[in-house]
Amino acid sequence: MRDTLVLNASFEPLSTVSLNRAVVLVLTDKAVVEHAHPDLRVRGAAVDLPVPRVIRLCRYVRVPFRRQAPWSRRGVLVRDQHRCAYCGRRATTVDHVVPRAQGGGDSWLNTVASCAEDNHRKAARTPEQAGMPLLFQPFEPTPADAMLLAMRASERSELPEWLAKAAA
Ligand SMILES: [Zn+2]
Repeated sequence: MRDTLVLNASFEPLSTVSLNRAVVLVLTDKAVVEHAHPDLRVRGAAVDLPVPRVIRLCRYVRVPFRRQAPWSRRGVLVRDQHRCAYCGRRATTVDHVVPRAQGGGDSWLNTVASCAEDNHRKAARTPEQAGMPLLFQPFEPTPADAMLLAMRASERSELPEWLAKAAA
């Protein structure tokens, strides 16, 4: 079953939880539904409510430290909105800015989305060596970004506009 995004009382994205957990938080008055699925409902013996997509905690939770977003190829493609960092066309591969052969690693700051053609053309060279400047600089997503990256694109596009903007 799909996950529900949990916001802090301050509206900052905190985590995702299972639908069951989200329903329990709402039914026990620990959270309120901020955004619900338009068509789906949770029905049980004593329950009938729209499937929550986004819930917000009633009490502010202090986040002790900011976790780093784990790197993934899929995350890089989503972060760069599937746009090639070299030509701006649709990207399906991930390129290492500093190639692995030259010591570049799998990290947010060393990887960009790339079309297969440019990835092949650049080969084991840096953008300078290949004469292929980056159209944009790679960046490290915040944990809140990472949470949204973890959601499927179809789910993200259904988020309320204010939240999609806050997370963009
Ligand atoms: Zn390209």
